[in-house]
Amino acid sequence: YLAKTGITQVWFPPAYKGNGGKDDVGYGVYDLYDLGEFDQKGSIATKYGTKVEYLVAINAMHNYGIKVLADVVFNQKMGADETEDVIAIEDNPQNRSESLGEPKEITAWTKFTFPGRNDMYSSFKWNWTHFHGTDWDEKTKKNSVYRFYGKHWDELVDKENGNFDYLMGCDVDLNNVDVVEELTNWGKWYLKFCDLDGFRLDAIKHMRESFFKNWVDNMQNSSDKDLFFVGEYWNNNIDILCNYLNKSNQNMCLFDVPLHYNLYNASNSGGNYDMRKIFDGTLVQAMPNNAVTFVDNHDTQMGQALQSEIQGWFKPLAYALILLRESGVPCIFYGDYYGTHGNADSSIKTKINPILFARKLYAYGKQIDYFDDEHIIAWVREGDKEHKNSGLVVIMSDNAGGSKAINVGQNLANCVLSDITGNMKENVYVDKDGNGIFYCDGGSVSVWARK
Ligand code: CA
Repeated sequence: YLAKTGITQVWFPPAYKGNGGKDDVGYGVYDLYDLGEFDQKGSIATKYGTKVEYLVAINAMHNYGIKVLADVVFNQKMGADETEDVIAIEDNPQNRSESLGEPKEITAWTKFTFPGRNDMYSSFKWNWTHFHGTDWDEKTKKNSVYRFYGKHWDELVDKENGNFDYLMGCDVDLNNVDVVEELTNWGKWYLKFCDLDGFRLDAIKHMRESFFKNWVDNMQNSSDKDLFFVGEYWNNNIDILCNYLNKSNQNMCLFDVPLHYNLYNASNSGGNYDMRKIFDGTLVQAMPNNAVTFVDNHDTQMGQALQSEIQGWFKPLAYALILLRESGVPCIFYGDYYGTHGNADSSIKTKINPILFARKLYAYGKQIDYFDDEHIIAWVREGDKEHKNSGLVVIMSDNAGGSKAINVGQNLANCVLSDITGNMKENVYVDKDGNGIFYCDGGSVSVWARK
């Protein structure tokens, strides 16, 4: 079904054992090598099932020509097997460049020995020297930000909270050569063991910026496939994203966080957003070959850490803006497509499907923008020879409905066009020169293609 609708890649969530066992979504990483195979953290299976079920799911995707991206969480580890007494300095959680008091001994959960796995796949054991710091002192039962004596937070990370190297759990020290070697070995093992096609890289703004450049190159060099990499650098500043990509020799994509916030702001502006500026300051505009465009994700949905969910009325417009343009690799959120447990009515599959259909069949050829009005914007895809009957017109408004005179080019000249979304019932007649008048409703999108 996914392959038929035009899905070409899936991003699977972190599939290894988390601190919360079967309830852990995967970001609280305990053991990267436990893909639901070992009796650890109270179960053999992860939240997503057993190792065998995971491999079967990947194989099923491959059977239909869909590539599989795995989620890679390297910044933090949680749920250590044993404690160690370590000298540490407490840093101000709101400003990590400021220390609170003198070094003192804390009892830290930092020894990861994985007794349930018994050295299968790797005999590497983690201890405090492999981390920068942690968040819990067992001795005083106190939660804070503890930096281990002699360690410093990496400088080349995001600047929020003074220095955003530390996010949660035990912060992995990427200056430690043993750590870098272990994470590289693991990546090669994971790629091969699961026949993966690429990776989604979690929380990269909390990690030394040179780390993933090398790791990505290592993974690509170890594989015969043309792997796909997308990093999660959660920052709305386009200069910071471009800088990161350039420092990485553009060997990966990043999620287009600025576009997400433009969509979010447009959806919350009550029809007063200047739609001509919807792509201003976005990654897909600045570095189109390195942008993964998206509307919402698991973190932006209601109640999550980065809550900034696009309002429902605007979501079809947002999906048209990512799916029907020539630039960017668009990513559909599972929750938008299938709904989420917290909100059964959240599925907008019936709204996304016509747009996906339009992408697959019609969204080809030269793109011409009609971003000439504050509220009603449109663009043309002229179609090409390789895709029979291709070409389309997208028109949308964040305010009142209306129309635009548009030239669609020669492929669609002398044609009758209808709105694939079903929002407009009338037809549009394009004359022999390719001119037509196209319409959309208020707060709505219409996608016109050959009837
Ligand atoms: Ca970090």
